[in-house]
Amino acid sequence: MTILWLDRTDVGRVLDEREALAAAEEAFEALARGDVVNPLRQAVFRPDRAGLVGSMPAFLADPPTFALKVVTVFPGAHAAGLDSHQGAVLLFDGATGRPEAILEAGELTARRTAAASALATRELAREDAGDLALLGAGVQARAHLRAIAAVRSLRRVRVWNRTPERAAELALWARSTAGLRVEPVGSARAAVEGADLVCTLTASAQPILEGAWLAPGCHVNAVGSCTPRAREVDAGLIRRARIVVDSRESALAEAGDLLLAAANGAFDAGDIVAELAEVVAGRAAGRTAADEITLYESLGLAIEDLTAARRAWLRADELGVGRRMEWPG
Ligand code: NDP
Repeated sequence: MTILWLDRTDVGRVLDEREALAAAEEAFEALARGDVVNPLRQAVFRPDRAGLVGSMPAFLADPPTFALKVVTVFPGAHAAGLDSHQGAVLLFDGATGRPEAILEAGELTARRTAAASALATRELAREDAGDLALLGAGVQARAHLRAIAAVRSLRRVRVWNRTPERAAELALWARSTAGLRVEPVGSARAAVEGADLVCTLTASAQPILEGAWLAPGCHVNAVGSCTPRAREVDAGLIRRARIVVDSRESALAEAGDLLLAAANGAFDAGDIVAELAEVVAGRAAGRTAADEITLYESLGLAIEDLTAARRAWLRADELGVGRRMEWPG
């Protein structure tokens, strides 16, 4: 028996923005149908909280598929020349249990997360939105720039980063790889003023974005805070925004943006108007007014990894990408 091994480059080749968006649609449509088993992920932290290992299993009923992502997150890993997210996604046939593929998880995570934000942007942002602010200049910022450009026509892109040199590097990268002009700016406020699309993409534990800075009608994808103690957006934004989440269960267990606002009385569970799956399925309204501020709070779901991995595996098999390895089964 053989399985397919897809490294980072392979995943990038087969999971372009179009494929990743289609995989995100599949994930949220399956969630809306109730076709998914997606338990809360388990995270085990080092006692000093310098890093964690997370385990994210999921099952999709149609076609029957199991996947398990195992990923370490070390925000300080860059100092050793490593990405902050490293790991693998294991993909199995959900009818027989047969292992089908192992995929590098860093690239897959970047692309599936950005695709979910792109889907949320398509559903929640104004049609004419095209002034994008990226807060953060890491792996997710690069993936989000390309993914958002695939669903809205971008007129202007600004980027702010804690370390300004990395914002400048992102601007160079954007021009050379995607032909996109990106302006590095000196503060988060200067990046978001007048923007109608904002993505928060940092590992900050303190708010880097204030709701008071945002223009009416802005859509925000809040992506970086996915543990209860980390927070990127302030209580003012939580009070001001129409809030859509990827999963209520995850948001109420893991979203520091919401849970820390709740501690100040600025949020309660009833403030979540919908899950993205309900909006995609037309069971809940997305944007209800042109001047409304919408917020997509992204935690990241195992089913997003599953559908992205499945699409990548099928496409790689079709195109002959990746390496076949003997499986000792
Ligand atoms: P990277 O390590 O590549 O980039 C991290 C970014 O966060 C850099 O721009 C870094 O700035 C910035 N940053 C770190 N600490 C702070 C701080 N205290 N204040 C301000 N900025 C800070 O990570 P990724 O791009 O892969 O991930 C970004 C965030 O998104 C992480 O928190 C990650 O856990 C989260 N994430 C969320 C997912 C989801 O599904 N919602 C999925 C995957 C990741 P600098 O260059 O100055 O270090």
